[in-house]
Amino acid sequence: MQSSDSNLASPLTVLNGVGPALAKKLERLNLYRVEDLLFLLPLRYEDRTQLVKIGALQPGSRCLITGEVLLAETVYRGRRNLLVRIGDGTGQVTLRFFHFSRQQVAQFQAGVRLTCFGEARKGPSGLEMIHPEYRILRENQDAAISDSLTAIYPSTEGVQQGRLRNLTDQALRIMQAHTPEELLPADVRGQLGLPELAHAVEYLHRPPADADVESMVAGKHPCQQRLAFEELLAHYISLRRLRALARVESAPSLTGGADEVCKFVEALPYSLTRAQQRVVDEIIADLAEPHPMMRLIQGDVGSGKTVVAAIACLKAISCGVQAAIMAPTELLAEQHWRSFSDWFRPLGIEPAWLSGSQRTAARREALESIEGGSASLVVGTHALFQEGVRFHDLALVVIDEQHRFGVHQRVALREKGVAEGRYPHQLVMTATPIPRTLAMAAYADLDTSVIDELPPGRRPVSTVAVPETRRDEVIARVRDACSSGQQAYWVCPLIEESEVLDFEAAEASYAMLTEALPELRVGLVHGRMRPAEKERGMQAFKDGLIQLLVATTVIEVGVDVPNASLMIIENAERMGLSQLHQLRGRVGRGAIQSHCVLLYKPPLGQLARSRLAVLRDTNDGFVVAQRDLELRGPGELLGTRQTGLPDYRIADIGRDADLMPGVQVAAESIMRGSPDRGDAIVRRWLGDANRYGKV
Ligand code: ADP
Ligand code: MG
Repeated sequence: MQSSDSNLASPLTVLNGVGPALAKKLERLNLYRVEDLLFLLPLRYEDRTQLVKIGALQPGSRCLITGEVLLAETVYRGRRNLLVRIGDGTGQVTLRFFHFSRQQVAQFQAGVRLTCFGEARKGPSGLEMIHPEYRILRENQDAAISDSLTAIYPSTEGVQQGRLRNLTDQALRIMQAHTPEELLPADVRGQLGLPELAHAVEYLHRPPADADVESMVAGKHPCQQRLAFEELLAHYISLRRLRALARVESAPSLTGGADEVCKFVEALPYSLTRAQQRVVDEIIADLAEPHPMMRLIQGDVGSGKTVVAAIACLKAISCGVQAAIMAPTELLAEQHWRSFSDWFRPLGIEPAWLSGSQRTAARREALESIEGGSASLVVGTHALFQEGVRFHDLALVVIDEQHRFGVHQRVALREKGVAEGRYPHQLVMTATPIPRTLAMAAYADLDTSVIDELPPGRRPVSTVAVPETRRDEVIARVRDACSSGQQAYWVCPLIEESEVLDFEAAEASYAMLTEALPELRVGLVHGRMRPAEKERGMQAFKDGLIQLLVATTVIEVGVDVPNASLMIIENAERMGLSQLHQLRGRVGRGAIQSHCVLLYKPPLGQLARSRLAVLRDTNDGFVVAQRDLELRGPGELLGTRQTGLPDYRIADIGRDADLMPGVQVAAESIMRGSPDRGDAIVRRWLGDANRYGKV
């Protein structure tokens, strides 16, 4: 027996049978404390609550049976098979083993009684069970019929199901002796119809025979929703705290520069949209605060985020401090550097440039001007935040097209800019609009602004899906568009994740298109090129010297060439919706009607078909994102792994997104009314170290 003072917070080694070696293995399942076992939910369940008569066995069903050995024989069918025929008076079934010992053969004497659990399948001579779990019954012994469904847990090497069942049994017993505190307020549970914690845990591990297994396996059972809710709540509270903490840090209050901003906006060739103006106002108000801004701008492709960022930078620079803007790729960073140079040069501001591929001399010069403060604006890639880069007085960091950073990176970046206890203001702009519920979970540490309006005169890109077999027609379309003075992109297939194949495919398409379209000036840009080459290609396209640009998905984010009005995307069926939407966003930036052709390899599967249909039906990035979330889940939407979303144990933000509004309301009321309860919730799910606060 485990000692009587073991409780849910005890290490797993208090459990019977758990030594240091097993504890180490269990760590692979993220199990450290007894309580963690309670939150290791079964993947599925098996029904061993009733004995099935052999005569009633259905192929495909997994059942518990008992019977008497009628015949056991070893046969050779290519390999050795042990066949054991058992019967219970209603019928017969064959147990088939491929791996077996001599002792096993000896066990199966005619007349011996067995109980077996396994899947019945059609075999060469009637029903059989392959490698069933079995036990020999002593005389007068009955088969062990469970009174609850049998849980099947996610397992790891060297830890068997039987062991996990035994450990969760022990954990459940400890839970009964020390009922865990019910941390969800009764009114919250009442409103949402969520059961109590202890009940939910017990039910999910040892469900009664009549439980709704389907809804449990789908994660939709109220007991699971109960746990998912509390887990989402823990993460949300933790992120909100991080925000609150940042709010009390100090940052330079930037109040000057109103005239400069005014003049800049007046000099633009267009007026800001109402949405842009609103977001600019929000940013200006944030920057005036003596605490760091932490703001996320969500805006669809082409909504004009860059100019908003420029205004924020100008505001900072005019107050006499430094601003930095970071983009995810060299190409995009270069484009910003160019636009910012064009915008700011007339004002006497020359942006510094910093990238990973820079020559040593240029880099040294840039570093000096950044450290000395003569560079008031710095544009670059991740290189901006590498070792050795010291800012003079960095007060604003803009991160463009971010969709690859999680909260850890955001915190790390902020730490980078700290000087003398002062934090820079932070503005993050997303590449991909994400549904509101998902944004709540992933970005609760930020304030959000949405640019929900496109510049006037934009016409939605008309989108069609065309099978590859009609490639010739598509090439003819490219010819027509380009000969009437427009420009086109031809984006090449993304083959696996391999950059090599990726660029080979681009070269092959380039060769094919130059041959098919000898009258056009065709260019090629891919990720394997040196940045300078890539930039030359892009620039030539921007300047109209190239009419058709063949490219890999390097042009996915941010690139801006308003005269391009036709986008062809090969192998569109392999790409994610949000990525396709981003690519498509490269056209439709000017006043001419733009088109996007999604080339696919037939036949299309059901999922691919519905994905392409979404793009055909809408140009709204938020709608695309919502559909992407429904069809593929959040990992794909935010860019797998580095989603910025935490690794949840139970919650699945795609499945449980509808819980988020309730989570938000509950969190606000708990943080206001009973902060201690908030602490306890965070501790239960995230452990003692508040993971988000530390990097
Ligand atoms: P994104 O939000 O995708 O980063 P950009 O900042 O690249 O969008 O802007 C897309 C295009 O829209 C650019 O060509 C830009 O000059 C133009 N643009 C931005 N704001 C406006 C506006 N208010 N009116 C007209 N065109 C605008
Ligand atoms: Mg952009």
